[in-house]
Amino acid sequence: MSFRMFAIALVLLGFAACSKEPAPDAAAAAATDTAAASTPAAANVNAARIIGAAGDTANWLTTGRTYDEQRYSPEDQINASNVKDLGLAWSWETRTRRGLEATPLVIDGVMYTSGAWSVVWAHNARTGELLWSFDPQVPRDWGKYACCDVVNRGVAAWEGKIFVGTIDGRLIALDAATGKPVWDVLTIDKDRPYTITGAPRVVKGKVIIGNGGAEYGVRGYITAYDATTGNQAWRFYTVPGDPGQDPENKALEMAAGTWRGTDWWTVGGGGTVWDSMAYDPELNLLYIGVGNGSPWNRYIRSPGGGDNLFLSSIVAVNPDDGSYVWHYQTTPGDSWDYTAVQHMILADLEINGATRKVIMQAPKNGFFYVLDRTNGQFISAEAYVPVTWATHVDPESGRPVENPEAHYANETKKIRPAPYGGHNWHPMTFNPNTGLVYIPVLDLPFKYGQDNAFKYRPGEWNTGVDFLETIPSKDPDTMINDLKDVKGYLAAWDPVAQKEVWRVQHAMSWNGGLLSTAGNLVFQGRADGKFAAYTADKGELVWEVPVDVGIVAAPITYTIDGEQYIAVVAGWGGAYALASGVPRHKGNVLEEGRILVFKLGGKAEMPKTDVVFLDIPKPPEMDSTPEQVAHGEALFHTFCSVCHGGGALSSGGGVPDLKFMSPETHATFDGIVLGGARAAKGMPKFDHVLSADDAKDLHAFLVTAANNTIAFCQSEYRKNYPELLDTACTRSSVKASE
Ligand code: CA
Repeated sequence: MSFRMFAIALVLLGFAACSKEPAPDAAAAAATDTAAASTPAAANVNAARIIGAAGDTANWLTTGRTYDEQRYSPEDQINASNVKDLGLAWSWETRTRRGLEATPLVIDGVMYTSGAWSVVWAHNARTGELLWSFDPQVPRDWGKYACCDVVNRGVAAWEGKIFVGTIDGRLIALDAATGKPVWDVLTIDKDRPYTITGAPRVVKGKVIIGNGGAEYGVRGYITAYDATTGNQAWRFYTVPGDPGQDPENKALEMAAGTWRGTDWWTVGGGGTVWDSMAYDPELNLLYIGVGNGSPWNRYIRSPGGGDNLFLSSIVAVNPDDGSYVWHYQTTPGDSWDYTAVQHMILADLEINGATRKVIMQAPKNGFFYVLDRTNGQFISAEAYVPVTWATHVDPESGRPVENPEAHYANETKKIRPAPYGGHNWHPMTFNPNTGLVYIPVLDLPFKYGQDNAFKYRPGEWNTGVDFLETIPSKDPDTMINDLKDVKGYLAAWDPVAQKEVWRVQHAMSWNGGLLSTAGNLVFQGRADGKFAAYTADKGELVWEVPVDVGIVAAPITYTIDGEQYIAVVAGWGGAYALASGVPRHKGNVLEEGRILVFKLGGKAEMPKTDVVFLDIPKPPEMDSTPEQVAHGEALFHTFCSVCHGGGALSSGGGVPDLKFMSPETHATFDGIVLGGARAAKGMPKFDHVLSADDAKDLHAFLVTAANNTIAFCQSEYRKNYPELLDTACTRSSVKASE
C-alpha cells in the first residue's frame, strides 16, 4: 500500500478559524420555567467592589476574579475531603459547535458568559434559567480572519452594563438586566483583518479592549472607552507605525529604533493584545500582554535584526491616559509566534528575604517569568516545559540566550515550544496557600521553515513560515512517533524556587484552564471530555466526571445563599482543535458545548448522548496527475490547513473534517470553494486567490488524501496504535437525547 499522500491531521500546525454553522438560537434552547430570582440591580459592579473582590466568595466580578487575576477563591466549603460528593446542579446546552473559551462572571446570582461568534448569555446562576441572550450578528465571512476559532473568552461588567468584544471588531455595552445594546462602537479599521476574542477589563470607568490578527497582518493596540458613553478615551499602539510618519509618542519613537527595514509596515508589524491584562490599583498600572509579529518570521519582518519592540512583551501603561510606563520583552526579535499574551498574575512573594510585588507569566516561549511589577525589573525565569530555541535566560540582563539551532531561515528546524506555546491562553491560577502557580502546559514541537516565496497577501495568512514543512510525515513510523511527541500536562510551579513541584501527565494536549480554591483543590477540564479536581498541594486526582465534550475554558466558583458552586463552560475548540481534530476515543464525543454547574450533593442528570462512530466514506473517483495532486497539496497548506487541519485531514472545533465530505459536498465542491455556497455558514469563497484549475487540484488532493487515509486506517498501524489514530480514522456522530 502506498502511503505517499497519506496524511493525518496531526497537530503540528495550528491556529485558524474558518467557520461553519449559523448562529446558535440561544433563546430557543432556553429551558425551564423557573421564576427569575429577585436580584439587586443587575451587574452592580464598581471600583470598590472589584478592588475588594478577593474575599467576596459569592461573586466572580471580573474575568480573572480579581484585578490581580489570581483565579483563586478562599471558599473552602467544597474541599479535598468532600469533593467526591460533587454532583451536577444544572446544565445548559449552548447549541454551538465552535470553540467555547469563556470564563463566566457571576454577579449577585446571575451568570454572564459568552460563546462562539461573540454571543452573550445571562443565566440564573442557581437554576440555569436563561434570563436573556444577545447575538451581535457577526457576519460569518469575517470568521475567516479569526486565526484560532471564532471564540470569545468572556465579558466584563460595570455599573449595570455587560461588555463584549466581537469577532468583527466591535465593543458592545449591554443593559445587564435585559441584554439590550446600550452602545456599540467599532474598535478597528475594517480594511485590516482584526478580530476580538479576549475579555474586556474595566478600570476606573474605562473599558479596555485589544484585538487579534497578527497572523494575517495588522498593527496591534489597545483602546479605552468610557463605560457610560462608549466614547474613546485613549489608544496605545504596541508597535511603531508608518516609518514615513512621525511616531505617535516617545515610547513608539524608542520602539521604532528597534525595527529594521520597512517591509514589516506593509504587513502591519503585529503585536496584538488579544487576551491577557492585569491591573494594580495601588500602583495605578495596567499590564498588557503583547503578541507576535506580522509576519512571524523575523528574517523577513526585520532583516538585519533588532528586538522589534513591543512584540512579545509585557507592557505597563497608565490606565488614565494610556501612556507607557515600562516594558519587559520575553522574546526579543521573536520569530516563532512566541506571544507574551498569556495570563499574567500579580502577587506579593517573599524572595530572598524581601517582599516583592511581582507579575508572573508563562508565555508561549516556555520560560516562567517573575518580574518586579513596580518597574519591570527582571527577577527570575526558568523553563517550565522543554525548550530548544534558547538555552536559558541570562540572570544579569534578563535576556534569553538563543540557541543557534532555533534559526530557520536557511534550514527547516524542529523547535520547542511550538507556535501553540508551552502554554497558551488557558488561564493559570495562583494559590496563596500553597504558594504555587498551576500551569496548563502544552508540550509539543513544531517544524519551522522559511517561506522563501513569501509575498504579502492582504487578508490571508502572512507568517513567512512554510506550512508545507509542518505536515504530517508520509512515512507512517515517523508519523506515529511525531504523534507520540504531542503531550500536555498540569504543572504545579514554585515561582520563588522556579521549579516544578508536581505534574499530572494528561493523555493528550490542549487541556483546559484552571481554578484553585482554599479547599486544597485545583479544577481542570480536559481534552478527553472529563472535568476533574486535583489536590493543590500534591496533585492527586480526587474527583472526575465525564461530560462528553473536551473542555478548554477555565472553571469558576461562586456561592448563593452560602452554598458553593463550581461552573465551567465545556466545549472543544480553538487553534489546536481546528488543526488537530477531536480525540473522540477518550470521551470527547459531543460537537456542541454545554455550561455545567456543580455543587455538593447535586442531583441533576447529565444529558445523555448516543454516539455512533463512522468510518471515512469512499470518495468519488477523480482523474488527476500526481503533479496536480502535489499542486493541490501546496494550495491546501497555503489557504486551508489552518482551519481544516495539517495534511488535510483532521479538524475539530466545528469545522468540517474534509475526509468525511458527503457525495453532495464533492458534487458542489467548486461552488463552495469558488462560489461561496456556504459563506453563510462561515466558509468564505476563495475565488480571489484560486482559479478553477486550482480548485480542481485542491479537490484531487483531498480525494487522494482521503483514499490514502482509508488505506492507512485499514492497516496494521491502526491495530497497533488504536488511540493515536482514532482521531484521524473515525468521526463520532452524536445526538443529544433530552
Ligand atoms: Ca499568534
